Amino acid sequence: MSFPGGGIFSGMAVTLRNFVGSYFDPDRLTTNDYSWRPVGKLPQSAGEYPKEGGEQLSDTTTVTNYSRNFPMLLHDGGVSPMDTIRCVACQICERECPPQCIYIEKAYDENGKSIKSPEKFDIDVSVCMSCQICVEVCPFDAIVMNSQFELSSPDRFGGLLLRRDDLLKSNDYYHRIHPEEAAARDQRMAEEKAAKEAKKKATAEAAKKKAEEKARAEAEAKAQEESPGNEETS
Ligand code: SF4
Ligand code: SF4
Repeated sequence: MSFPGGGIFSGMAVTLRNFVGSYFDPDRLTTNDYSWRPVGKLPQSAGEYPKEGGEQLSDTTTVTNYSRNFPMLLHDGGVSPMDTIRCVACQICERECPPQCIYIEKAYDENGKSIKSPEKFDIDVSVCMSCQICVEVCPFDAIVMNSQFELSSPDRFGGLLLRRDDLLKSNDYYHRIHPEEAAARDQRMAEEKAAKEAKKKATAEAAKKKAEEKARAEAEAKAQEESPGNEETS
């Protein structure tokens, strides 16, 4: 249309065509999560939509290393992610999250004693504002930002509430999506661990030296007491 404002009517015609068409052709529901459909079932409009196996890496390969979307919880591999989950359920991130969209429940053992692990860890990503404050305040490098963006869901409420097991990702995955940041974090953690161990070793050596000096002083005092000269004077 060439008259002023004609583009608005063209755009609205496309919207109307898609709206009515979506009742008959599911491919017109372009906001549906189609990334995990089998290749043969991808809609035409998906084009070369990235699709890879494994941990939803396809959601992240089309964005830069520096992008961030919502948080994820890191684990260090192993048979069960819960065996190596870094989160100790200290709840600092829950307290500091500005829109209060994190919910954590601690885990307890059979004797009712709390253990350093989250039984529940939910993030409502419909509320999360991607501010990364939870990442900044975590003392255990347990929570970092994911760049997964394909999160559309027909379930308006529950579909956007990510549970602990949805949030769990391996450190290897973190290295694949944010290589520089993950490498820098690993290096810092290794340095902190080495410094902590050196301090622990120095403290133990100082304590040992002090104990040896004390034992020597006691032995000298005892020897002096038992010496013949001392017996005569007493
Ligand atoms: S993610 Fe970090 S700050 Fe949050 S509860 Fe776990 S250990 Fe604490
Ligand atoms: S990124 Fe910000 S809003 Fe989202 S969970 Fe972390 S602290 Fe809360």
